[in-house]
Amino acid sequence: MSEPADVTSFSKALVLGEIHEELVFPYPTSDEAEAGKVRALISAFRAYAADHVDARRIDDEAWIDDQVYRDLGEIGLTGLYVPEEYGGQGLSQTGYARVFEAIGTVSGSLTIGLGVHQSIGFKGIALYGTDEQRERFLPDLARGRKLAGFALTEPNAGSDAYNIESRAVRQPDGSWVLNGEKRWIGNGGRGDVFTTFARAEVDGRDTHVALILEKGMEGFEAGEPYDTMGLRGNNLCPLYFRDVRVPRENVLGEPGQGFRIAMDVLNNGRIGLGTGSVGLAKQLIDMTIDHVTERRQFGRALADFDMVEDKVGWMVSYLFGLESMAYLTTGLIDAGIDDYSVESAMAKVTGTEFVWYLANRAMQLKGGAGYMRTEPYELIMRDIRIFPIFEGANDVLRSYAALSVLKPLGEELEVLADTDLSDPIGALGAWAGYLGGRLKREVRPDRISLAHEALAELAGPVADQVKRLRAVGESVLREHGKGIVNQGMTHKRLADALADVYAQVAVLSRVTAIFEEQGVEASGQERFIAETFCSRAARRANLELDKIESNDDERMHSIARLAYKRGKYGYALFED
Ligand SMILES: Cc1cc2nc3c(=O)[nH]c(=O)nc-3n(C[C@H](O)[C@H](O)[C@H](O)COP(=O)(O)OP(=O)(O)OC[C@H]3O[C@@H](n4cnc5c(N)ncnc54)[C@H](O)[C@@H]3O)c2cc1C
Repeated sequence: MSEPADVTSFSKALVLGEIHEELVFPYPTSDEAEAGKVRALISAFRAYAADHVDARRIDDEAWIDDQVYRDLGEIGLTGLYVPEEYGGQGLSQTGYARVFEAIGTVSGSLTIGLGVHQSIGFKGIALYGTDEQRERFLPDLARGRKLAGFALTEPNAGSDAYNIESRAVRQPDGSWVLNGEKRWIGNGGRGDVFTTFARAEVDGRDTHVALILEKGMEGFEAGEPYDTMGLRGNNLCPLYFRDVRVPRENVLGEPGQGFRIAMDVLNNGRIGLGTGSVGLAKQLIDMTIDHVTERRQFGRALADFDMVEDKVGWMVSYLFGLESMAYLTTGLIDAGIDDYSVESAMAKVTGTEFVWYLANRAMQLKGGAGYMRTEPYELIMRDIRIFPIFEGANDVLRSYAALSVLKPLGEELEVLADTDLSDPIGALGAWAGYLGGRLKREVRPDRISLAHEALAELAGPVADQVKRLRAVGESVLREHGKGIVNQGMTHKRLADALADVYAQVAVLSRVTAIFEEQGVEASGQERFIAETFCSRAARRANLELDKIESNDDERMHSIARLAYKRGKYGYALFED
């Protein structure tokens, strides 16, 4: 994948009507040396997990043994992307995601425990730490001798993380005194190192600071673990800060950069939920195929029924699109593209919702047996229900993606030129402003020329959808101006249409690489699934764009407001 010369974000350019295919063709692959390392890590993990990790026991006891983390650290699983000089494995984002797919098939709690540790817990130290901080923290964290957490959420600040209330005050000696409370923090009671965030006055400005907290600091305490629906081995706890003195050398990045650091870490981390959903989806599909081909009713295998094939066909074809999109995104990150925040958000939203519906359908096909606790379905469903809520609630990420891609277009049209980022939508406006600067552009390619010619019938409609994305984007910006920040229903449709366009591009890129490697004739199945996915995704994208142009949103607003006013459903057939 060539280094982008003229554009900083593939998706933001799409909504300007531009297809920068040099960013997404050829489809990214990992080099042989890394692939070998990934395979070795996966097989070492599987061998260890077979004897030492019992997902049901973790759920029952709401605990993962310390020894498990220590052993996995020895194997190399607690510092996957950490450079080798600090004792890690030095994997790319793609390599990291592949190992996590394997972990995800064993235990949700373990996956999230390890994910919180490295995807977000110490990611800030890896991205923003000074050399001294990296040397001080990374070796122990990478080898599993210490465990990390990420503490952002507070009782009054969940999605609206910009408005956290914990406060740090700089002291004359350069240290900081921290007060406040965090809630729902993974690895909360057992973690040794936490990245946390607080408001702070810096150069007379009320802003944010990122701090590294260490277990044992005076005034820093974890509360009792929460009693959660799933991910019960995750040791989710509140954290309390009472006059915690944080030394100057534990400030992460520059004071004032705190919110940006939090958002960068989450952007980088949330792609893991997209690729993690891919791994779990594969496992659920395998379980489904085993079951429907074996179980017989009405004298035939369940697999033979029309509605069963409908479900399984949907599972397989949709996963092909999701997998293409998720690993195109890790490839963008590995290629060093500046701004992958929208792609990462779209992969998280698409992946976490797909795997939830997939788990429902897989359980449906398992019948009553799927409801038994002897089967893994109920545990999987309890564990994954949080995926669309944490690391950015999907609704919020849809708004974020839509506002992020509309911003450059608004600037070009001079509709949003002076948008006040501290407007009522607060954090959302700020997110869009913080991440990725102005889009650098020179050329305006508006078609896909790098897709294999055998895919021309699928590539043509993508160019049409891209033109439509721009046209619809322009029209909503002209209609609403700065008021676009409050048009959530439009955000949702635009983000969903964009995700489907991006997924089609990803499939075209992936299948082009397959055709080039093994020839078109030999790739009939891939061609068939690409045609299926792309034509369905194109239909969905166009439908979402149609709905932006024609909808009954006003009715939804009215019905919701009336219901709020009544405080209840209000149309009950019977009086209680
Ligand atoms: C199991 C678990 C693990 C967690 N781990 C961590 C952790 O390690 N570290 C950490 O800091 N936090 C963690 N959290 C917190 C998590 O990130 C938050 O729950 C999440 O950010 C959402 O915040 P909230 O729950 O306060 O929901 P709210 O912000 O109150 O939102 C509730 C719902 O309202 C809707 N909504 C909110 N804003 C908008 C909007 N602008 N437009 C449309 N709809 C909207 C969404 O549907 C959202 O789900 C965890 C939570 C859980 C349950």
